[in-house]
Amino acid sequence: METQGNEGVRGDIDLAGMIREVPDFPQPGIVFKDITTLVKHGPALRLVIDRLTEGYRGAGIDRVVGIESRGFIFAAPVAYHLGAGFVPVRKPGKLPALAIKREYDLEYGSNVLEVHRDAIEPGHRVLIVDDVLATGGSAAAAAHLVVALGGTVTGIAVVVELTFLQGRGRIKDYELVSLVQF
Ligand code: AMP
Repeated sequence: METQGNEGVRGDIDLAGMIREVPDFPQPGIVFKDITTLVKHGPALRLVIDRLTEGYRGAGIDRVVGIESRGFIFAAPVAYHLGAGFVPVRKPGKLPALAIKREYDLEYGSNVLEVHRDAIEPGHRVLIVDDVLATGGSAAAAAHLVVALGGTVTGIAVVVELTFLQGRGRIKDYELVSLVQF
């Protein structure tokens, strides 16, 4: 399933228009897609959570993974609506208990993501949620961690997809839902 086009429009809410572009952040040449201008607006936040959730109702999702840190904003309410648990995938050294890690490359720099070993059980159906899909490295790393723990990645859902970076190619084994494309 792929969602494109006018998914982000309900009534007069234009999700794409509510995302602020910040040039040269966090470094020269990057145009940062700032979702704080969207989530501070109640109806827009509700629309985003509803849209991220709707394709997965009845899909038997056990866990919703949020990728640190902006992914948490969206993943927890989606988990709530699905009646699923929330699992944080975090930057290194943040999780207190036994964790597994995955290293990967970013649009700017490299990173490591970790998840608690007991956060996902074999056979669990898992939805991965983040704010922005850029190169797809973070989502691919999160998917790798889910699979390493015996889970199944049922889908990946993001608010923004930067299509010119072709991040879809790095997660082509999985269903991707994006609400807004740039
Ligand atoms: P990637 O692993 O390259 O798909 O990058 C995804 C992560 O980096 C997401 O968690 C985003 O929050 C962040 N990110 C990367 N590029 C941008 C961008 N241009 N604007 C906003 N966030 C970005």
